[in-house]
Amino acid sequence: MKTLARVILLLLLVSSSAFAARVERLIDNWQPKHYLVNITLNDQLSEITSASVRINLTIVKATREIEVEFGEMTVDRVTLNGLPATYLRKDGKLHFDLPQAVGPGESMVLEVEYHGKPKDGLILTKDKDGNPAAVGDNWPNRVHHWIPTIDHPSAKATVTFNITAPANQEVVANGKLDHVETTATGERTWTYSEGVPIPPYCMIIAVGQFAKVEPVERALTPLSYYVPLSERDLALKGFSPAAPVLQFFTNTVAPYPYEKLALIVGATRFGGMENSSAIVFTSNLFNRAAAPPIGMSQRFGVPLNNVSLIAHEIAHQWFGDSVTESTWSDLWLSEGFATYFAALFVQRFEGEDAFRISMNNATLAVFADEKKKLVPIFDRDTENLMELLNANNYQKGAWVLHMLRSQLGDDAFFRGIKNYYESHKNSTASSEDLRAALEKASGKNLRTFFTRWVYDSGHPQYELAWYWLGKRELRLVLTQRQSGNAFVDPVPVTITTVSGKRDVILKPAGKLLIERVPLRQKPISIEVDPRNVLLDETTVKGN
Ligand SMILES: [Zn+2]
Repeated sequence: MKTLARVILLLLLVSSSAFAARVERLIDNWQPKHYLVNITLNDQLSEITSASVRINLTIVKATREIEVEFGEMTVDRVTLNGLPATYLRKDGKLHFDLPQAVGPGESMVLEVEYHGKPKDGLILTKDKDGNPAAVGDNWPNRVHHWIPTIDHPSAKATVTFNITAPANQEVVANGKLDHVETTATGERTWTYSEGVPIPPYCMIIAVGQFAKVEPVERALTPLSYYVPLSERDLALKGFSPAAPVLQFFTNTVAPYPYEKLALIVGATRFGGMENSSAIVFTSNLFNRAAAPPIGMSQRFGVPLNNVSLIAHEIAHQWFGDSVTESTWSDLWLSEGFATYFAALFVQRFEGEDAFRISMNNATLAVFADEKKKLVPIFDRDTENLMELLNANNYQKGAWVLHMLRSQLGDDAFFRGIKNYYESHKNSTASSEDLRAALEKASGKNLRTFFTRWVYDSGHPQYELAWYWLGKRELRLVLTQRQSGNAFVDPVPVTITTVSGKRDVILKPAGKLLIERVPLRQKPISIEVDPRNVLLDETTVKGN
């Protein structure tokens, strides 16, 4: 009996640790296809006086019930396929029992009418001039506070907005502005439609007394800036990197995925929020000091950290918005890509030194984070999604891409990235999808690389000891000092002798590698990873 009890206890322990993994609200039995969002705001933009959201949905699994996430606002009326429906409101969800079972492939229309002041997601505030503003800011799962949705990145859908606001207000939203109409009561209704599916956290409206500024030169998509009235004169220079960024990513990846691009200075709890085709930047964007040691951009005359930020948010239009992470564990496919592609823009437009500095800063951020906690990039456990905005998903994700580029070569790497984008645009992708695309482009098996760098934690701490044995022979002993498993990436080593430099590639299979190198003279110095192609720490001991 004791043994049995112990077995049961063990089973309980095993199953409870299995349950520790974060539970995500994935698409289960239905999938949204299109949202029609009608919102009327009051005079002071302090409340939604009336709203209705119509969701065209498709059943993906036979079901008798449907659940949609919705925040705390007052629900006035709900219909299913045009008929009044009863629902149960519980745990932040509206729950519907269907009159009969529906099967996969069937379409339904769910409509919710509501009003009130959203607790989150749509920020009702004042801009820096003190004028009222209403700006969506939904990452990671805050859109359901003002739009009923499946609030998970994988639940992508197209969206049409009809936003009614006082006539003195400007309205921006995702997609193309179809028309503006004046209502019988003198307000204006703005209709925007986003024709390709976007993740719910990217659905946005921004309402306020913006100055709208457009660059003189034509960009690859209609480009406009929405800034507080007092910053009208700062917008053109402040956003001057945007058009070259659009050009650069179009050349490097694919054509821009949306109908227009609006860059907005307004309310966001982030430095920038990458809403599809309507990015919101922090209200102090144009007052930010240049961060040392990178300083000012020679090219654009703005702080280099702003160049990076603008490039980062625009890179998200391809990575994150168009190719969306299929789970929160795959977040690096959004943040790591945006960080690395911003660095690539910096490399092209600001030079190698600026690029090196940004990759070195990334290294420092990763090492600092890893001192606190060792967690894989592919993180299935962290419950608080805000905590996923960490060095793993940003800087280490960027480093993973940089190492893949270094190991596969530019040609295979960028071909793989283009194929990955092409296969998953307007849809979702997983880390395994990226691996498959890069394997196909390079002909290399990347399972070990992904297992160690994406699904495991830490970084290599190499210690190279060298021994001059005389008789034209050098012995190299490469030891990996990190806790955890070995890294088997090729390690470049440069040996300097009086006759010059010689490059050697060490190929560790475990934590200890001993290699003999024939060499004419005793080394003067030996350097590990001299061109910094690995996210590593190195020490060299010689005699
Ligand atoms: Zn980002």
